[in-house]
Amino acid sequence: MNLSKEKEIEVVELMIKKYCHKKHNIKNGHLCEECDELLNYVKYRRSVCPWKKNKPFCSNCKIHCYEPKMREKIRDVMRFSGPRMIFEHPIIAFRHVYETNREKRKLAKIEKKKEERKNDR
Ligand SMILES: [Zn+2]
Repeated sequence: MNLSKEKEIEVVELMIKKYCHKKHNIKNGHLCEECDELLNYVKYRRSVCPWKKNKPFCSNCKIHCYEPKMREKIRDVMRFSGPRMIFEHPIIAFRHVYETNREKRKLAKIEKKKEERKNDR
């Protein structure tokens, strides 16, 4: 079971579309100008992410590179579409949760090792 980082963008896109459809009354699968801007912003931030290939999922990332306005928007989208994804795209949603948690554990382990090394000195 492996969810690639490209897939993560697909998930985000699905979530924004769902949000836009319900909240802005836009035809399913389409985006209003505002949501289109948000999606492009997410894609752009991702393309300039300093983590590049080793990039963790954004929810695990410590940099939090989004500007406040966009961060608020994407949070809103996640809050709205997140729970709905589980019903409509259970495999994608569960995979995403699974991968995110697995990565979180991995990152926590690396942090712990760093701490231990620091304490050894
Ligand atoms: Zn919209």
